[in-house]
Amino acid sequence: MIRSPDDCACPIQEVGPSMVSSCPNQFLLFMTILEAYVNGRCDLADPCNRVSSVENVENEYDFVVVGGGTAGSVVAARLSENPQWKVLLIEAGGDEPTASSVPAWVTSYWNKDETDWNYKTEQQQKACLADGGKCSWTRAKMLGGCSVTNGMMYMRGHAADYDGWAVNGAKGWSWFDVMPYFLKSEDNKEIGNGVSGQYHSTGGPIPVQKFPYAPLFAHDVVSAAIELGYPPTSDLNGDTITGFTIAQTQNKAGSRFSTARAFLRPAAHRENLHVLLNAHVTKVVINPASKKVTGVEYLKDGQRKVVDVKKEVVISGGTINSPQILMLSGIGPRETLDKYNIPVINDLPGVGQNLQNHVGVQLSFTLTKEPEVPELNWATAMEYMLRREGPLSATGLSQLTGIVNSRYAPAGGRQPDVQFFFGGYYASCSDGVTYERDNVKDHREVTIYAVALQPRSRGYLTIQSVDPLSPPIMQPNYFLDEHELDVIVDAAKIAYRLANTTIMREKYGMKPTEGYGSDCGESQESPSDEFLRCLAMFHTAPENHQAGTCKMGPDSDPMAVVDMQLKVHGIDGLRVADASIMPTVVTSNTAAPTVMIAERASEFIITRHQLVKRGPDSELETRFGSPEQSNGGQASNEGDRWTFSEFDNNEPKPIENQTKQGQEIWDHRWKPWDKHWQYWPKPAYTHNPEWHKKNDYQQYQHSR
Ligand SMILES: Cc1cc2nc3c(=O)[nH]c(=O)nc-3n(C[C@H](O)[C@H](O)[C@H](O)COP(=O)(O)OP(=O)(O)OC[C@H]3O[C@@H](n4cnc5c(N)ncnc54)[C@H](O)[C@@H]3O)c2cc1C
Repeated sequence: MIRSPDDCACPIQEVGPSMVSSCPNQFLLFMTILEAYVNGRCDLADPCNRVSSVENVENEYDFVVVGGGTAGSVVAARLSENPQWKVLLIEAGGDEPTASSVPAWVTSYWNKDETDWNYKTEQQQKACLADGGKCSWTRAKMLGGCSVTNGMMYMRGHAADYDGWAVNGAKGWSWFDVMPYFLKSEDNKEIGNGVSGQYHSTGGPIPVQKFPYAPLFAHDVVSAAIELGYPPTSDLNGDTITGFTIAQTQNKAGSRFSTARAFLRPAAHRENLHVLLNAHVTKVVINPASKKVTGVEYLKDGQRKVVDVKKEVVISGGTINSPQILMLSGIGPRETLDKYNIPVINDLPGVGQNLQNHVGVQLSFTLTKEPEVPELNWATAMEYMLRREGPLSATGLSQLTGIVNSRYAPAGGRQPDVQFFFGGYYASCSDGVTYERDNVKDHREVTIYAVALQPRSRGYLTIQSVDPLSPPIMQPNYFLDEHELDVIVDAAKIAYRLANTTIMREKYGMKPTEGYGSDCGESQESPSDEFLRCLAMFHTAPENHQAGTCKMGPDSDPMAVVDMQLKVHGIDGLRVADASIMPTVVTSNTAAPTVMIAERASEFIITRHQLVKRGPDSELETRFGSPEQSNGGQASNEGDRWTFSEFDNNEPKPIENQTKQGQEIWDHRWKPWDKHWQYWPKPAYTHNPEWHKKNDYQQYQHSR
């Protein structure tokens, strides 16, 4: 009964590789049954809405989006809302497997060739030493990208991140400017229940809410943090930006909502949207004389092919692959391109530079009073099967987080510099047996990851060959600037204090795990700074928030790769839209900010190319005049820059001031989700130059 598939309106097919191979052999039988059950459920398999790969790629499209990951799925879906535009999305991997929608199976598709790029960094001098100095970077290779394999935590970063971007040259990207685009994609299910409508919205494609289940230990950590003096908060994206909480995630009724599921599947039946799966983009084709993009070259089934593009190409290959694709296309540092005999289309030294990632330490604790009863068994599996509740509907302790200030945090406390993540209580694999407490290990281990959010070390990424299938060289330079180590040591001490709170000590008997970190000496309840520094270097938490390799900035910034409309400097018809454009990595997880970037990119493109009729007898025009007036509908880095003085002041502009010949000017009153915009509590987000002078400006100056 349990295994037979639902009677769906469309035939259910298994998608992607099985998750079972990620479990130890002894769990094979139970996990195979469970996965078969999951694969047969209509709501999880979603067969009627699945995207299928296009069989006959047309010769030419209006837009080609490269990479169907977190950002690319959003861009392709948004652009194809216009039925007159033909859009092609090219993704190197396949469709997202059905089992990936089960939150507890979050790690099941990591480190598998079919679904993961399996990247390894260059040898680090001071990091990942327990793994021989090479850190592993899992990056998803499938439709939805890392939004299919990530922890789903919904975090936006802080207002000061975006204000810092704007102050340092990325004008038009202040918190005030970006906030509406977070709201646009959000469908928050808990407004009025822990989160406020002042910061959240409904009606967007991504459902946001807490998982239906959290281990009791997670709630107790929140209480322990309050005992330590951290403010109680149920929303770190709201009023209280520090504290510990069980986070909201991108899930609906206990199943994952990747951007492919949220954005692409509702668009799957559009005739003007083609999705090409298992096709690897090798380069963007650019006319060397006019510097105008003419097409995209890709490999499919071992054959090299080219598709032409009429309007624009958007690269959304992620922080590692986008700069690689640019370099292979002749855009990047001249010396690198010369080294590999790649004809230089544009010498942009910033391509691949400015690589940033959060980094932390993994701390192991033992709950000496808590037996390790497996979270997943037949009973808890039934909870998921029947009601989409219980441990399978959540990610164990990964949904718990804390954001705090270390003693190195910038003054003012508006941009905290430490985030805690937690590991344990996973329900990923099991043999299904319900064990009595007496029959299991009499203690449980949990991990606390203490992570520095404002890294000063900068790395780089470059190609090591002209072979597009060969991975780029990834050099994060972890701890090149020891600032991160200082922050991590301070943060680790907070974690130890958390473990020693009354509730953790008395209820769980929480202690540092014996023998853990023996490379660094003996673990103690109050470890020395030296021990913790050493631990950070051996048991590094290299995080998954890589950013910055196609930095956004004005053309006066020699390291900028894209301008503020995400157009590649000096190239006509090419943009980058993904986490790589962040000038500095935001101070939290990066998925929601990446979606925001994709929403903005889509709107820049729509604004530039969409033709409208201004009256019954008038001609079709772009929103900024006829195609001729707006530079012939062509993207140009020179002719159509925004005039920033127009929106440094956030007041709405009178209509006649909004169109200037040859220039795009942001219209403060035109928002597709206008109902939110008109109620916007402006004073709370108004840019305050005095505050910036005091708190941020200095810090950004020397953190570069
Ligand atoms: C394990 C993990 C856990 C995380 N947890 C969280 C979390 O809980 N919350 C959060 O906010 N953030 C989290 N993040 C970070 C967040 O998911 C990423 O920052 C974000 O998803 C990056 O989006 P992107 O569009 O830049 O890249 P991706 O999502 O990686 O998309 C890039 C896409 O391009 C494709 N591609 C690359 N090269 C080519 C090519 N040559 N041809 C065709 N296609 C190509 C890739 O296959 C991929 O699908 C996590 C990340 C990981 C990896």
